[in-house]
Amino acid sequence: MLENRQALRKCRRLVFKAGTNVLFEKDGLSGNRLKALARQTATLRRQGCEVLIVSSGAIGAGFKKLGLAERPRTLKLKQASAAVGQVFLMAAWEKALSQAGLLSAQILITAGDLADRAGFLNTKNTLQTLLAHKVVPVINENDTVAVDELKFGENDTLGALVAGLAEAELFINLTDIEGLYDADPRRDPQASLLSLVERISPSVLALAGGGGPLGSGGMYTKLRAAKRLAEAGTASVIASGARRDVLLKIVEGQDVGTFFRPHPKKLHGKKDWLAFASRPRGRVTVDRGCAQALTRRGKSLLPGGISGVEGSFAPGDPVAVQDEEGRTLALGLSNYSSAEIEKIMGRPSRRIAEILGYSHSDEVVHCDNLALSEGLL
Ligand code: GLU
Repeated sequence: MLENRQALRKCRRLVFKAGTNVLFEKDGLSGNRLKALARQTATLRRQGCEVLIVSSGAIGAGFKKLGLAERPRTLKLKQASAAVGQVFLMAAWEKALSQAGLLSAQILITAGDLADRAGFLNTKNTLQTLLAHKVVPVINENDTVAVDELKFGENDTLGALVAGLAEAELFINLTDIEGLYDADPRRDPQASLLSLVERISPSVLALAGGGGPLGSGGMYTKLRAAKRLAEAGTASVIASGARRDVLLKIVEGQDVGTFFRPHPKKLHGKKDWLAFASRPRGRVTVDRGCAQALTRRGKSLLPGGISGVEGSFAPGDPVAVQDEEGRTLALGLSNYSSAEIEKIMGRPSRRIAEILGYSHSDEVVHCDNLALSEGLL
């Protein structure tokens, strides 16, 4: 785990995400910006650090070509713009990366592809195989086919997911401001850049709120992505994509942007997928004692602690576990369907067989299949 700036020198695999604002100048895609990022990617590879790129910009590159005056708001026009623009975006990356001596590959994914564990593993294998062949994957959301409920919507979440999927040690989120400030820098001249965030607490998340350039939703989704990654043991940095050699400086351990320290506890395997990609099909509510047993003592979820169930799900489906105040505590794979849980909730495990006429297991969710969230997600 890369627990501080100095440790970033040891990074062997990173994902960087470039937002539309980073890749565009007034007239369109910035060849120079892409070239600079491609050159740094080649340097990192020579230093022994593998790089994956999450690139926005398909809609930005496409809408003008469709003859639209401004960035579209409707799903249909966004999809058409992305279909046109993705070709230009990828062509620009291919050109920049090949000039830097690198072979690139295009990967387009939707949240729906990864919500399914087989899809998740398949994508993971493809990424690993590309990296093993020294290819630089350039990843974007498959905007053309994603309908609203299957969308990430923004690439901060996609970037965090790719970092988890690729088992990267570092995620660098390049944007158009220097990092996270303790106040809105465009309104408050005293605002200062935070070099280090130890923990993304509610008060840190609140720094992203409240309108202005920091509050457009942009910084919030970036912090949420950094938080997910920190909880999975992955370091991240939010920095300005306009800064010269930004990637190289970060990996050298220089004080650039905001560094988010990873938490010591790392998720593994199935828990990783649960926390990052699965979409809960329902929710179960647990009482206080049960909430503590899950979150503090690492116990499995037993029917006795359940006080409510919502949604309709089958055995094996991912479900969210919430406390009585509605805060999400964890995501888990349920051994029982929602209809079965309605019958056994509040009852001791030993009575499951008597109530249902059978028993798959004593636990509704086994602790091995439970990924704790630290709230707020
Ligand atoms: N996938 C979108 C695009 O390529 C970008 C989403 C975002 O900007 O976060 O245009």
